[in-house]
Amino acid sequence: MTTTAPYDKTNIFARILRGELPCKKVFENEFALAFEDIHPSAPVHVLVIPKGEFVSFDDFAAKASEVMQAGFWRAVGTVARQTGVDKTGYRIVANHGADAHQIVFHFHVHVIGGRQLSSKMANMPKELPQTA
Ligand code: AMP
Repeated sequence: MTTTAPYDKTNIFARILRGELPCKKVFENEFALAFEDIHPSAPVHVLVIPKGEFVSFDDFAAKASEVMQAGFWRAVGTVARQTGVDKTGYRIVANHGADAHQIVFHFHVHVIGGRQLSSKMANMPKELPQTA
């Protein structure tokens, strides 16, 4: 499965959106559903997913309507405020494709906080490419 493959309606987040699988819901409106990550990497680790068929961030950025894009990103901000991490700081991450280890092919944003996060982004390459 790659990010250029067509949207797979059987992916796990599509099934959560349809109510076929449970989730620990944090927030929901007409644009987005937010729920706790099943393997949290911090005290607050919430996934925000759009209510539409978008494989990845790239697919969402290219194809979602302006209303959906605005509504979705507002929902991400609401989740951060609702969980309280807006006061202490948080990181938002969207993994796109193989090099970023995207494993669920329904666009999602991780909202991560509730503790001091590493000053470096996770999973830096072992060796940086030579520039000279
Ligand atoms: P990624 O596609 O690399 O951005 O990561 C997908 C994320 O989804 C991982 O952090 C998983 O722990 C999380 N995840 C996978 N299945 C579930 C599920 N059923 N409920 C909540 N989170 C999940």
